[in-house]
Amino acid sequence: MGILEVKGVNKRFGGLQALGDVNLSVRENTVHAIIGPNGAGKSTLLNCLVGKLIPDSGSVMFDGQSVLGRKPHEINQMGISRVFQTPEIFADLSVLENVMIPCFARRDGAFRLHAYETVRKEADIREQAEAMLADVNMLDKRNMIASSLSRGDKRRLEMAMCLVQSPKLLLLDEPTAGMARADTNNTIDLLKEIKAKRDITMCIIEHDMHVVFSLAERITVLAQGTPLVEETPENIKGHPKVREAYLGE
Ligand code: ADP
Ligand code: MG
Repeated sequence: MGILEVKGVNKRFGGLQALGDVNLSVRENTVHAIIGPNGAGKSTLLNCLVGKLIPDSGSVMFDGQSVLGRKPHEINQMGISRVFQTPEIFADLSVLENVMIPCFARRDGAFRLHAYETVRKEADIREQAEAMLADVNMLDKRNMIASSLSRGDKRRLEMAMCLVQSPKLLLLDEPTAGMARADTNNTIDLLKEIKAKRDITMCIIEHDMHVVFSLAERITVLAQGTPLVEETPENIKGHPKVREAYLGE
C-alpha cells in the first residue's frame, strides 16, 4: 500500500476526457515522477489530489483516508502540500515573514483565542521559520523583501513555506519550468537535500528529463489522460510505449 493510492479516477471537461481510469500508487518516502506530453492530464491529476478539482469517479486515498469531498485546506492539514508552477509568495513581505505565514495559518477556534495564541507563539514561530530558512540555505536573506529575490530564490522560499508545515507528501508541478540550467541544477540539489534531511514523499510533475532522472525512483508516464507505464528510471529510458507517446514512433 502506498501513502497515496489513486484508483480508477476519471475526469471530463465537457466532451474532453482529461483523465481516464487513472491508477497511481506512490510509496512512502520515495520520489515519484509523473511525466507525459503537454495536455496529458498531469496538472488535472494533481488538482484532483489537492481538492481543487473533484473527479467524476474513482478514489483518492492518502495515508489511509479518502481526500475526496474535502476542501483544499483540509487536505493540506492531512499532510499534503503543493508547490505551484509560479511561486505563490507575498511579494511585499520579507523572506522571514513569508515563512512565518504558514505557521500562523491555523484558523481553528474563536478569533480572540486565535489572536492570543498568535501573539503568544510569535517568538516560537519566528524561531521555527528561521530554522526552516537555515535548512534551505536562505537564513542570510531573511530580511530581504521577497519581490527582490532571484527566480531561483523565490522557488526556494516557496519550498520553505511548504516544508515548514511538515507535509508528509509534497506535490511539485513543474518546479523548474522556465528556469535556466544553473537554477534547475540548484533546484535538483535543493530537493535532494530536503529528501535527505526528513521523511517526506515527493510527487513531481516535470517536463525536463534531466530533473526526472536526477530525482525520481519511480516514474509514471501519462498520455491522453491514462497511465501507460510505471517503472524505474532505468526501465523508462528507451521503453517503446514511452517513445511512442513522446516521439510518435
Ligand atoms: P498537462 O498538465 O499534462 O499539460 P492538463 O491536465 O493541464 O495537462 O490538461 C489536460 C487536458 O484537459 C488538456 O486537453 C486541457 O486543455 C484540458 N483542461 C485542463 N483543465 C481544463 C479546464 N478547467 N476546462 C477545460 N479543459 C481543461
Ligand atoms: Mg500542466
